[in-house]
Amino acid sequence: MTNNSELAFTVKAQEEIKRNGKEPILGGQLRTKAAWVDESLCIGCTYCSCVATNTFAMEPNYGRARVFRQDGDSSSLIQEAIDTCPVNCIDWVKFEDLDTLRAQLEAKSIRPLGLPPLR
Ligand code: SF4
Repeated sequence: MTNNSELAFTVKAQEEIKRNGKEPILGGQLRTKAAWVDESLCIGCTYCSCVATNTFAMEPNYGRARVFRQDGDSSSLIQEAIDTCPVNCIDWVKFEDLDTLRAQLEAKSIRPLGLPPLR
């Protein structure tokens, strides 16, 4: 091994990270997929929020379930919550798709549960 001090300025301080598309991108400490509630279909039964309490909560203005944290519960517990949903409105999705899904949801006019239908 040489004792050349100039080497310190030629060696990279950190290895370049090469992405392969399979890494968890957002909060994915536990998994590479995200839980998503289609709030336009949710009937507000609260089942999911009672099963996976660190993932789902009832949004107070609309009375529908929403995922508030992606790494709060194990995948199996979230799957159990998904299986309890009577209208099948919870899905596993890619983290990369969450922004698009939120935008699509905001474009829909969702009524708060408990209010009479529009005339
Ligand atoms: S189980 Fe389904 S319908 Fe019930 S609150 Fe959760 S998302 Fe909504």
